Amino acid sequence: MKPVIALVGRPNVGKSTLFNRLTKTRDAIVADFAGLTRDRHYGDGRHNGVEFIVVDTGGFEPDSTTGIVKEMARQTRQAVAEADVVIFVVDIRLGLSVQDHDIARYLRTAQKNVLIAVNKAEGMSESPMLNEFHELGMGELHPISAAHGQGIRSLLDAALEGV
Ligand code: GDP
Ligand code: MG
Repeated sequence: MKPVIALVGRPNVGKSTLFNRLTKTRDAIVADFAGLTRDRHYGDGRHNGVEFIVVDTGGFEPDSTTGIVKEMARQTRQAVAEADVVIFVVDIRLGLSVQDHDIARYLRTAQKNVLIAVNKAEGMSESPMLNEFHELGMGELHPISAAHGQGIRSLLDAALEGV
């Protein structure tokens, strides 16, 4: 089985941009992998000869009975349950938010291997803005720029380390 990496985080932090970077596609694709739920975006990636599956979350229409917040939470839970590794994406330009704390609290209960990718960090990898994300208490921070392709290799080295 290929390792499954889930991308979670609040809207607009750059999850889909990272998904496209990891899968080298422009459009997030919907594929059919045995055993995985089909209402999320799955893609294939490869790093140093290791193939993996990456799962994007949050880009789907809620149904009228659940609403956007519940739907996001549902997708995040399902993606995390399927994942071997979770990449929790945050946004250095907007800074730490209440939603980030909520997601961190949830991830701690999920007992998965979690990495924090601090996105939109092009030109900011030495910025003191980075430090506030230590408050999440989830270990090492990985500054990246999904849009510019920076920090991606070392993020993947860390993500695939123990799998
Ligand atoms: P999602 O809602 O988490 O999937 O976020 P998207 O991938 O749709 O990106 C949200 C916005 O952030 C878009 O306007 C992206 O172009 C922008 N964005 C994504 N990655 C980066 C990045 O590395 N740097 C900057 N400056 N903007 C980014
Ligand atoms: Mg998205």
